[in-house]
Amino acid sequence: MNLSDRINNMEESATLAMAAKAREFKSQGIDVISLSLGEPDFKTPKHIQEGAKKAIDEGKYFAYPPVAGYMDLREAIAAKLKRENNIDSKPENIVVSNGAKQSIANVMFALLNPGDEVIVFSPFWVSYSALIQLAEGTPVFIKGGIENDFKATAEQLAAAITPRTKAIIYSSPCNPTGSVFTREELEAIADVIRDKDIIAIADEIYEHINFTGDHVSMASLPGMLDKTVTVNGFAKGFAMTGWRVGYISAPKWIADGCNKMQGQVTSANCSIAQRAALTALTSDLGPTKEMTKAYHERRALVYDLLKDIPGVKTNMPTGAFYFFPDVSEYFGKKSDDKVINNADDLCLYILEEAHVSLVTGDAFGDPNCVRISYAASVEELKEAMSRIKSALSKLS
Ligand code: GLU
Repeated sequence: MNLSDRINNMEESATLAMAAKAREFKSQGIDVISLSLGEPDFKTPKHIQEGAKKAIDEGKYFAYPPVAGYMDLREAIAAKLKRENNIDSKPENIVVSNGAKQSIANVMFALLNPGDEVIVFSPFWVSYSALIQLAEGTPVFIKGGIENDFKATAEQLAAAITPRTKAIIYSSPCNPTGSVFTREELEAIADVIRDKDIIAIADEIYEHINFTGDHVSMASLPGMLDKTVTVNGFAKGFAMTGWRVGYISAPKWIADGCNKMQGQVTSANCSIAQRAALTALTSDLGPTKEMTKAYHERRALVYDLLKDIPGVKTNMPTGAFYFFPDVSEYFGKKSDDKVINNADDLCLYILEEAHVSLVTGDAFGDPNCVRISYAASVEELKEAMSRIKSALSKLS
């Protein structure tokens, strides 16, 4: 008896696999500092917790919600998109899902026929390629390097388009690089696809963790509303990873496709989590801004500490909570008799030797790099960087 080819051929999520490995070490009593999972170390703000408790006490939210999400939540999302993102959206354009990951899966299944190509701005979040392939599409990567803050360009996009191109996908602020596309860069990207039958999938889940002060939504650019799927959610900006609330705002025909897909796979996401999300959206952004301020301070700290490690090359990210340094200087070096051949080996070595978990850049499309999440306390970050430095110094 065999699993399907579909599952056998699918990559395991590298972020979740590394997090599981770190948990396993911790369960053995090993003091692991986990910088692998992109997860705020803050607790969900109190008023959002209270919103969920109130919803339970009211006793009105125990039945199946509409598949696309409660109407008042979708109205609040549409209002937020108008207010903060200059996106003209209505409840009929919105589908609330079990995390932005399910939102992206819905979109891929709703849009792709076998062989359709999706151009992926690389480095890219690990699940994009897996979900495209699961939907029998073909990911086509266009790659930015560290010298360009890892940003692939509109020219590269234009060169990668073929008659099979159905969509493009990027995240800004970017997971794993922390880069933020400027308005000019997004306008140049929009110029390339505006007159073509190509959908833009804009993953804006890190919109609040942006140190440039300017978050630009693709759907707000002239002519792009009818061909953009905006992906967002509550996990990062509101420290709500476990609540699993993501959403899309999309042209109605795509939203309808996602609704149909979700209706067969999971139905609506958790009723109480949706009420918590509504509280998050209808309260002020004070706690979100406080958290962003903390990430901003930690970014400066980690940058200085990384600069101090010989052979590690880094740029200065402008959003999210990741560094994506190039560690290729260490490839070919040895620990005892074991050769470090690549970023996978280096991550394993750092986990075993320094007890710090990172994620290999290979999973994100750049095998010379590793991803460091700095959504951790200042003490943990200082200790982790010192342990990494010491472990790397032992390689020869
Ligand atoms: N998006 C987060 C990360 O990249 C959460 C883990 C995941 O779902 O991949 O670490």
